[in-house]
Amino acid sequence: MKAIAVHPGRPNSIHLRDIPEPKVTDVPDGRGVLVKVIRVGVDGTDKEINAAEYGAAPPGDDYLVTGHESFGRVVEVGPDVPSTIRPGTYVVASVRRPGSSIYGKIGLQDFTTDDVYYERGINLLHGYLTEYYVEDHEYVFPLPANLADVGVLLEPTTVAEKGINHAYEIQRRLKVWQPRSALVLGSGTVGLLTALVARLRGLELTVYSLPQKPYRNAELVEQLGGTYISSQDATLAQASEQRGPSDLIFDATGFSPIVWEAAEVLGKNGVLVLASITGGDRKAEINSDRINQGFVLGNKVMVGTANAAPADFRSGVDDLIKAEALYPGWLAQLLTTPIDGLENHAEMIRALTEDRDAIKVYVEVAGAA
Ligand code: BGC
Ligand code: ZN
Repeated sequence: MKAIAVHPGRPNSIHLRDIPEPKVTDVPDGRGVLVKVIRVGVDGTDKEINAAEYGAAPPGDDYLVTGHESFGRVVEVGPDVPSTIRPGTYVVASVRRPGSSIYGKIGLQDFTTDDVYYERGINLLHGYLTEYYVEDHEYVFPLPANLADVGVLLEPTTVAEKGINHAYEIQRRLKVWQPRSALVLGSGTVGLLTALVARLRGLELTVYSLPQKPYRNAELVEQLGGTYISSQDATLAQASEQRGPSDLIFDATGFSPIVWEAAEVLGKNGVLVLASITGGDRKAEINSDRINQGFVLGNKVMVGTANAAPADFRSGVDDLIKAEALYPGWLAQLLTTPIDGLENHAEMIRALTEDRDAIKVYVEVAGAA
C-alpha cells in the first residue's frame, strides 16, 4: 500500500513509497484495531520533520511514515476489543506511546520523563499518512458519525484540551476558582481550537495575534463571540488594559518572548499555559522584578503542556460535538486546504510551508463512505 515517508536527517526527502499492509493480528492478544485511513492533517511538526530538524525512523528502517493527526474508519477488530469500537466506527488514534518512564505505565505517557519520545509519525514509530494502520484499542478513540467531516481536527484539539484541562486541575488549589476570561495568544489551528475550547468552558474570550483585520481567523474568533486584537494595533499590555486581567492565558504563538509579556499581564491567581514548541535559541529582555513580584504577590502559575492523555481525547470528542451544536459549521471553516491523495505530497509540503492563508492542511487519503 502507498505511504508518505521521509528519510529522517535528510532535508526535503518526502516521497511516496510502498509499504506492507498491516493485519489486525499484528497487535497481540486480540487487541488490534485495523483502520482504513480517511484523512490526515499536517502541521509544523511535519514541516520540521521534512526539513530534517526533527524525527527519527523506527529501528531497522531507513524511512519514517509521517502524519500524526489521523482520522479513519475501522475495518476489522480483534476478539478482545471493546464493543465501543466495531467495524464501521470512525476513530482517531493518539500519537505518543509509553517508553520506560513510570508515567507510560499508568497510561500518561504525555507526562514522560524520558528523553526519547515514541510518537507515531514523528519519532521511532510510523505514522498515519498511508492507507491502513493497525493499533492497540487502548490508543484508538471512537467518534460519533456526525463528526465524520471534522474528526481530523481531534488530535490538534487534544493539545488545547490538555492545556485547559490542566489549568482547571491546577486551579483546584483555589477551592473557589471562578474564571471569567481567557486570553489566547496566537490564531493558528491550535490558537483557534483553544479559543473554541475556552469559549465552550463559558469564558469571555480574547485572541491576540499578529495579523491585522480583515482576517479570516479574526472572523472565526468573532463567530465564537470573542474579541480579536492584532499585535500591530496594541501591545499585550494595552490589549489587557482594554479587556481586563485574564484568569487564563494560553500561548500558541511559537514566539517565546511573548510569554514574558503574558506573565506580566496575567491576573491575580491566574494560570499561564505554554504550548508552543520553540526550537530556536532566541533571547529576550524581560521585566524580571515586576514579573517575579507579580507571581509571588499574585499567587500565579505558569505551566507547560505537551501531547495529550486519553482524558483529553475524550473531552476533545465532547467539545467537538458541542461545537457542532453551538457553532454549526465553525469547525469545517478550519479545514481550508485539502490535498487530494497521498500522491500529492509535494503539494502538501508546499501548502504547509508557503500558504500563509491556510489554517489546516490535510490529505484526503480516501472517501468517508
Ligand atoms: C504533536 C504532539 C507531539 C508534539 C511533540 C505535536 O505536533 O501534535 O502530539 O507530542 O508534536 O512531538
Ligand atoms: Zn501536531
